[in-house]
Amino acid sequence: MYRIGQGTDFHQLAEGKELWLGGVKIPHTKGAVAHSDGDVLLHALCDALLGALGLGDIGKHFPDTDIRFKGIDSKVLLQRTYSKIREKGYWLINADCTLLLQAPKIAPHVEAMQQAMSRILNVSREDISIKATTTEQLSFIGREEGVVATAIVLLQKF
Ligand SMILES: [Zn+2]
Repeated sequence: MYRIGQGTDFHQLAEGKELWLGGVKIPHTKGAVAHSDGDVLLHALCDALLGALGLGDIGKHFPDTDIRFKGIDSKVLLQRTYSKIREKGYWLINADCTLLLQAPKIAPHVEAMQQAMSRILNVSREDISIKATTTEQLSFIGREEGVVATAIVLLQKF
């Protein structure tokens, strides 16, 4: 039994905030404005995992009005999300993710992100694909006002 899921997340960027992507802190002048650490990539991945089993979205499970989730490490959110998937008897086969942002360059950090994510999801690094693209200076992404991530996952029940 296979299930597929997709997720999308957006965050605003602001000066002086930390930039967390794929469970890794990236040195940059701007970071995400968010209730949690604002890790757009992990949030998209959580939504994809939940979506695959029709379990709603990350906002339903971890509401940003809940004080317990203020400033929370999104790796914890991913861990808790994946526990819900495992409870239903499913495993992740692979994930394919895309980051849309103008800066900084993501390539030097991809391996660390794959490592952080694959450790939580109990798969090998090759099972987590992370791609990045700029928008050629177009739109809010090009103006570095925000960052977007999309993720697609395949789950299997054994
Ligand atoms: Zn988010």
